[in-house]
Amino acid sequence: MTSRREFLKKTAAAGAAIALTPGSITGRNTRIHARLSNDPVSNKPVDTFTVNARSAMNIPSIRPREITIPDTAGFKVLKGDFHIHTLFSDGQVMPADRVNEAVQNGLDVISITDHIEVRPFFSTVGRWKINDEQGLNHNLSYEIAKPEAERNNLLLVPGTEITKSHMPPGHFNVLFTQDVNPISAAVDDWKKMLQIAVDQGGFVIWDHPGWQAPQYGGIEQGSPLRFTKEHEETYKKGWIHGIEIFNGTEYYPVVLDWCNERDLALFANSDIHPSELSQYGIHNPARPITLVLAKDRTLESIREALFAKRTIAWAAHMLWGRDPWLPELFNASVEMKSISPGTLELTNKSSLPITVSSGGVAINLHQNQKQQLYRAERCKKLTVLNWMIGMDKPLEVPLSMG
Ligand SMILES: [Zn+2]
Ligand SMILES: [Zn+2]
Repeated sequence: MTSRREFLKKTAAAGAAIALTPGSITGRNTRIHARLSNDPVSNKPVDTFTVNARSAMNIPSIRPREITIPDTAGFKVLKGDFHIHTLFSDGQVMPADRVNEAVQNGLDVISITDHIEVRPFFSTVGRWKINDEQGLNHNLSYEIAKPEAERNNLLLVPGTEITKSHMPPGHFNVLFTQDVNPISAAVDDWKKMLQIAVDQGGFVIWDHPGWQAPQYGGIEQGSPLRFTKEHEETYKKGWIHGIEIFNGTEYYPVVLDWCNERDLALFANSDIHPSELSQYGIHNPARPITLVLAKDRTLESIREALFAKRTIAWAAHMLWGRDPWLPELFNASVEMKSISPGTLELTNKSSLPITVSSGGVAINLHQNQKQQLYRAERCKKLTVLNWMIGMDKPLEVPLSMG
């Protein structure tokens, strides 16, 4: 037997061809035997061939995750992630990889929102310098991802992240940008950046409001997050349209009340920087997703739905939504049937995590499994423990035995 070391030495020295013995590749578990030709490389024809060894390599083929959610209140329920980074800011993968990750996760729509201010990798000043024309173009990651998204039937929303190093104002995502470059040109004045973004018709999300919050209270100090004076002023100008209640692996419960009080859209976004695989693993059902109730599966419908605040945030086996969209989603997802006097049958027709309780017993409604409740005639309501409609306020669904 030739050791690997000797093998490498010989191939390096002689540049010898590797010949696979015919018949050695016959099945999935067959080993591939290679022998070295003693002939130095020459033009002499060698009796050999090329083999596709894929089957012997046992490469798994992973099918895209399937997420089933019934139409709700006459709208399609689209799955989105509106906060994603690539190597064109401080993310670790290329734009096309983000498209493929989203397709693998069964998403309908994403926005690549690279930082305007933070570009340590591909830029005019980054580790891998690119020319001015490309380096000064803040639409580049969108332009690279666009054809890949079209090939994969994924909707791609143009976007960016305005990234200030202090809170307030913190960070804002702008979706549906027309051109990020004029926003970037106003980099020294965050208010002007937002003004230009909104003048372009942009939809603005206040990102991760718990970030760097300690000097204003905040999650790390165990004290409440603040809707600061600066955010209040920005909101009153009409420059904030939504807020992340969930970012990456962080959850900010108070955001649901802020969105209810101020008529804002809720988001659960990944804000992913490394690869999907290293951040969440494969097809992680707890990964953040923003559900959008849209008339059609088009960018224009998504835009309309966001400005109409028809979003529901989903992450970590919880959902957060506003009235009436959260109860509407429950009605569409859970079939309730009175199958005999006093017996109620519940079926979750969706992939959504649903845990209900009545009388203190928590019941998980798994997809397409029937769950019966007996002697339910005196039961007036179900509490959906993991669907929140206000801070500390789970959704309650009235029951009638009909
Ligand atoms: Zn950020
Ligand atoms: Zn970000």
